[in-house]
Amino acid sequence: MRPTAVNALEYEDVPTRQDGRLYLPINAGLPPFCIQCGVPTEVYKIQEFTGADRDASWLLLIGVISLQKVTVPLPLCPRHMRRSRFLKLFGVLLIIAAVPLGLVVGDASFSWAALVGLIGGVGVFSFGCVLWSKSEVLSAKRIGDYEIVLSGAAEEFLTRLKLRATAANN
Ligand SMILES: [Zn+2]
Repeated sequence: MRPTAVNALEYEDVPTRQDGRLYLPINAGLPPFCIQCGVPTEVYKIQEFTGADRDASWLLLIGVISLQKVTVPLPLCPRHMRRSRFLKLFGVLLIIAAVPLGLVVGDASFSWAALVGLIGGVGVFSFGCVLWSKSEVLSAKRIGDYEIVLSGAAEEFLTRLKLRATAANN
């Protein structure tokens, strides 16, 4: 099929949105507005996304292709930057704190106290993991050769982007 004006638009090198998804062409930048609240900002957080093209994930299973890594600078206002850093720090601290809890349990003979300690340790560890993952702000739904599909951006940010030209592609 010969390229038409409409086709050219589809591959424009600007981020677009469709519903809650953010479609970012590889090497394109995001406009300087916080992705969590939409206020203007000049601060970008470098985030690395790892994933594979959804259509090729079965190839990944048999080891034919490897995971793609894409680094994306995410605009964040100072308030949300602090929140992201705090969640990561607190999450990591909880995960570390869960280890001595586990050691104490492993040392004690089985008792109700040990069981409570074990459940507490697992709970603290899981909560730490949740906080850590929340600090990542956006998650990659798909990483293709030409674009990365992200979810988790606020409507206040997405509303500043153009609508994705084709609905049929994804
Ligand atoms: Zn913000």
